[in-house]
Amino acid sequence: MKRAEAERIGEALPILEGRFKARVVAMILDSKTEMALEMLCNRYHVSVPKLGVGVLKGRTKRVAAVYSLQRREILAARREYLYDPFVMIHEFYHHLRSVSGKHRGTEKQADRFAIDFIDAYRAAVKQTPV
Ligand SMILES: [Zn+2]
Repeated sequence: MKRAEAERIGEALPILEGRFKARVVAMILDSKTEMALEMLCNRYHVSVPKLGVGVLKGRTKRVAAVYSLQRREILAARREYLYDPFVMIHEFYHHLRSVSGKHRGTEKQADRFAIDFIDAYRAAVKQTPV
C-alpha cells in the first residue's frame, strides 16, 4: 500500500467511527432504539440485550434505567428513557462490559462512553445543519 493511500485510510477511519456513533444517537432520538442496539451489538460483537420498561426490585427509583446481567436486559424506568441516547448508550456499556468480561464497568466509564457518542452526533449535526 502506498503511503498516501494509507494516510487517506488513516484519516477516514476516525470519520467513519464518528459517523457510526452519530447514526446510533440519531436512531435512538428517532425512537429506533432496538435498531440502534443491534448496530452497537454488531459492531462490538456481543449479543443483543432485551429492552424493557420497568423497575427492578431493590433498586432505587431515582435512576433512569438499569442493566440486569441476569436478565441480559436494559430496563428503562419510564418509556421516554428508551429514547434518551445518553441513558441507552450508558446502559449498553454495562451490557458490553458484563457480557465480554467479569466487570460491568464503572459509572464514570459508562458516562464517558455515552458522551463520546453524543459528541460525535453533535459534531455531525454541526457539519450538516438541518
Ligand atoms: Zn450505570
